[in-house]
Amino acid sequence: MSKVFFLPIDKASMEGGFTKLLSKIVSGKRILPTDTVAVKIHPGEEGNSSYVSPDNVNRVIEAIGPGTDRIFLTDTTVLYPGKRMSAPDYLHLAHEHGFGLPWTPPFIIADGLHGEDETIVKMPEGFQADEAHIASIISNSDAMVIISHFKGHLLTGFGGALKNLGMGCASRAGKLYQHSSVKPLINTDKCSACGICAAHCHVKAISIDSHASIDTDICTGCGECLGRCPEGAVRVSWDQNMSVFMRRMIEYAYAAVSVSNPLLYVNFVTSVVPDCDCMKDIAPPLVDDIGILASADPVAIDMASLDLVTAAPAAKNSPVRAEAGIDKFSAYRPDINGTLQLSIAESLGLGSMEYELLKVLERDQQ
Ligand code: SF4
Ligand code: SF4
Repeated sequence: MSKVFFLPIDKASMEGGFTKLLSKIVSGKRILPTDTVAVKIHPGEEGNSSYVSPDNVNRVIEAIGPGTDRIFLTDTTVLYPGKRMSAPDYLHLAHEHGFGLPWTPPFIIADGLHGEDETIVKMPEGFQADEAHIASIISNSDAMVIISHFKGHLLTGFGGALKNLGMGCASRAGKLYQHSSVKPLINTDKCSACGICAAHCHVKAISIDSHASIDTDICTGCGECLGRCPEGAVRVSWDQNMSVFMRRMIEYAYAAVSVSNPLLYVNFVTSVVPDCDCMKDIAPPLVDDIGILASADPVAIDMASLDLVTAAPAAKNSPVRAEAGIDKFSAYRPDINGTLQLSIAESLGLGSMEYELLKVLERDQQ
């Protein structure tokens, strides 16, 4: 049974609360002055405000201790058009959201200019994927701290540490593999036949006539064309089986853990909105803010986060009237079984769904 430490939100602002919470996990795990430590965050899409704030990220980093000056914030580029699709755009957005400024650690894109900078990880026998494409900065760091915002998600019901690992540490090709059992599609209504995608396709799978066409027999699924199209005409197919998607995502979480030396996981169970930080603000939170969790086990911390949300009453303006004891994410998206990601992760040996929840300050006062 794994330990999950819990700082209730009413105590979170208390001086030393973060330090006490995180010291429970990091004690005994030394960071050397020469170590490069990647702090995996999600700085939020343009128009989103529910992401973990720079102040809270800084508080986690301060609590980890003065082990190294080589701590940096990081995230990967994404598959869809917007301000997180290429490194320069993403850096601008991260700065707008307060990350990578002089009073925070530097923010470094983990997978290169267009998501192409990756490490190929060989997967164990019996996995669906023979290899995983993990962002090179993740695999080249000496250690990683995973800070996640626990909230709902369109495809996985909810997202926390496991999703941050599996999807968030994948390069563009890795994301594409997880998201799509087929190759990218061209929206011919949007395509202007400019040829930019074809010029950047490394296997010449794209031909241009009145619009671009992809030869799926040649396409390797690298995702380069997604990032290059100025019209947003290249898209991912989202119509695959949900369980296939979750299995792929969790196998990638396994790959990320295997190459990154994770020190600890921190989940902010705050602003628990139904959608992820990749979306603009749409719906209000499902529950009131609950607190901050820390653990060395990504499965246990997500399980504990889910249980805390389930146990809480619905927030005043919640889009679903699910009372205490009802799974809010299932109530919001009845067709998605979010706990599948946890059971798959447990079956792959990533952690345990059984945990002991330890309230940090209560325990300290004993
Ligand atoms: S995904 Fe990569 S290989 Fe496939 S068409 Fe796009 S650029 Fe070419
Ligand atoms: S880059 Fe986009 S708009 Fe240009 S040809 Fe390719 S799909 Fe069409």
